[in-house]
Amino acid sequence: MVTSQQALKKYGAPSASNPNMVVWDVPAELEIGLIPKKIYCNKDMVGPLSTAFKKLISTKAVNELKTWDGCFNIRKKRGLTSMSLHSWGIAIDVNAFENGLNQTPKLSALFVSCFTTSGFDWGGTWTRKDGMHFQLSKI
Ligand SMILES: [Zn+2]
Repeated sequence: MVTSQQALKKYGAPSASNPNMVVWDVPAELEIGLIPKKIYCNKDMVGPLSTAFKKLISTKAVNELKTWDGCFNIRKKRGLTSMSLHSWGIAIDVNAFENGLNQTPKLSALFVSCFTTSGFDWGGTWTRKDGMHFQLSKI
């Protein structure tokens, strides 16, 4: 699992003007359902997110996407001292309202697999469950 130390080493200090950050103009064919039109994210997210979105659309799991709860956000992990990978724009949250920290995740196995087969780790399997959260599995 990617750690905040690895992210710091690879990308440098988190900042809105970090040179690794890009405004990804999501291709029109991927703007389905609640998938945003533009995402401010790390450049390394564009490939894996494109793949995950294509899978969400082709499997219709995209219909499960009820809220898009963001990518880039400089902050510590909730209740912890280490930085969240959101700080480098390499994590996203979805359906936060029903996949809260330490709650049993509501996302279907199909929805989750669209991400986990596209280069993401899912927080829903962690000891400290974070079912809304997907982050790059490698950087
Ligand atoms: Zn998250």
